Amino acid sequence: MSELRVLVADDDASCRLVLRAAVERLGYECTVATDGNDAWRLFQEAPPDVLITDWMMPGVDGPELCRRARQRPDDGYTYVILATALGEHEHVLEGMEAGADDYLTKPISPFDVRARLVAAKRVTELHKELERLNAALATQARTDPLTGLGNRLLLHEDLAALHDRAVRYDQGYCVALCDLDDFKRFNDTYGHPAGDAALIELGQLLARETRRGDRAYRYGGEEFLVTLAAQTLPDAVVAMERLRSSVEQLAIPHEASRAGDVMTISIGIAAWHYDDLDTPTTVLDRADALLYRSKAAGRNRVTSDQPEHQPDPC
Ligand SMILES: [Mg+2]
Repeated sequence: MSELRVLVADDDASCRLVLRAAVERLGYECTVATDGNDAWRLFQEAPPDVLITDWMMPGVDGPELCRRARQRPDDGYTYVILATALGEHEHVLEGMEAGADDYLTKPISPFDVRARLVAAKRVTELHKELERLNAALATQARTDPLTGLGNRLLLHEDLAALHDRAVRYDQGYCVALCDLDDFKRFNDTYGHPAGDAALIELGQLLARETRRGDRAYRYGGEEFLVTLAAQTLPDAVVAMERLRSSVEQLAIPHEASRAGDVMTISIGIAAWHYDDLDTPTTVLDRADALLYRSKAAGRNRVTSDQPEHQPDPC
């Protein structure tokens, strides 16, 4: 059973006593604030599932507390119950408009508290379920269903974050674009189910072999992309050469390959340049061009834009 965390805010000691007793009798956790400022401090420290607040209190008053509770920066929901004196019903509508979900009339009846908390529990559980589903959907939308690696959407988000960190902290990063060699021929020879199985196996290899801080994504089709955070180009070349070799050692038969008789990958690695207007897009474009050079040079190889590898411009 999921529990409720309740925050009670009232400057009247006897009201606090009755509310606390009623909440705790239901087995829920209860925190008590003696005025509005105290309540807001406790609220910010640990946003409660339910806030039961007095209307008039020193410091932040009930309606203001309602408004602040509604501007909670995280996705969580606090169910707000306003406690007002009998004969102050005009306050109730004002409070509901400020964000309260329900109200209690003073003097507080433990039965009323109990009834209100039944509704509060239902609503907060719905909100939690909604948050859980939203989080699951967000993950699903960023996952490639075949390989379980991050997809292009996640890549673009992560790459933007990686780029921002690199600019701020003056750390380099590299991206490596990897492409299975002659994958169309593989599918034509062994069939698409075998092609899918090879993609899954490669995805597992990438997830296993990328080092901490590096991340692998399925870029699309038979293309995968690895981001290498805080890496120099020579280190990235070493890491990707190891990956290329690991793929070869999987020894997945590929009779139709023009690069040998097993499945292989070609890789293009580009480094972000600190000192120019390099963007994630231009880095990706360079990696793509370098991958093409790996293909043109015979496949099953790593090509990078290390200066010593560049043709002499003169
Ligand atoms: Mg009061």
